[in-house]
Amino acid sequence: MLPSWLTEPLWGQFAALLPERPEYHQDQPLGCHRPRISDRIIITASGKKEWIGYRDHQSETCGDGPHVIVQVTTRPAPEQDIDALEQIHQNLVRQGFTDLEHFVDAGYITPESIDRAERAHGVVLTGPVRADPRAREHPGFTKADFTPNWQARTLTCPRGVTSHPWKATQGDGHEWLSVLFPKPACRTCEARQECTGTAEDRSRHIILLPQLLQEIQTRVRREQETVQWRQHYAIRAGCEATVSETVHAHGLRHCRYRGMAKTHVQHILTAAGTDIIRLSGHFPPGTSPPRQPRPASRFKRLCRTLTN
Ligand code: SF4
Repeated sequence: MLPSWLTEPLWGQFAALLPERPEYHQDQPLGCHRPRISDRIIITASGKKEWIGYRDHQSETCGDGPHVIVQVTTRPAPEQDIDALEQIHQNLVRQGFTDLEHFVDAGYITPESIDRAERAHGVVLTGPVRADPRAREHPGFTKADFTPNWQARTLTCPRGVTSHPWKATQGDGHEWLSVLFPKPACRTCEARQECTGTAEDRSRHIILLPQLLQEIQTRVRREQETVQWRQHYAIRAGCEATVSETVHAHGLRHCRYRGMAKTHVQHILTAAGTDIIRLSGHFPPGTSPPRQPRPASRFKRLCRTLTN
């Protein structure tokens, strides 16, 4: 355990931040002190339950020594995880973290987020990029099997056929490159059905990202299939345990307050409490840091003066 002289002033400071706690409401199944708040959970027409409160994004150290939560971001629940990434990186950089490698789950990672983290904050973002969602439709050759020529704006397929020059297009607010292979070449190709994924008389069509993002996507998709990458990424394995710890041991999902600002205070207090527990476990009994001698009180100093 950490000595009380260290933890008590800390808790005293945290306690001063907290509003007075009202009594529990009897009708509240979650044990919240207020009646059920209608904007926390909604039931959709299909009967699906959806949370519309807040999300807590925690960043934890990994490696040697105790793993502690060093960054907490609170965002509205309907926001996607990836939308919080910019603020998370701003927080980490402001706190003085440099040469950072940030391990995230699939919800935070796209070729765009890898590129933005590197260029804007110098953060190396590591996580599994989504696999090609159309790979099953094209069991013969996936997009990675085609070779781009960025100067000529063409793709070359594994059978050596070169596409028409691609056309820039847009979808979901992103820029894409639409690549079409010549119909006569595909029509006579032995691998046409496996490659195009259809028995119809169509040629192969591929959507590429802009060059920089496409190169990132291709590189990461290749890397994440290797044993080395998986071993490297395994360092993040304990993070889910931290989420579980804050949720199940410290009630993170039971929001005590209304509004994002106060909820953020709750999230920080939860992280601080988790860190204190972890740090207390890091010092074996009897090996806590040496205690600084307290300065003598005025009464003690007066006694000394009188007895000298
Ligand atoms: S179907 Fe067309 S794109 Fe696919 S391998 Fe054959 S020639 Fe190349």
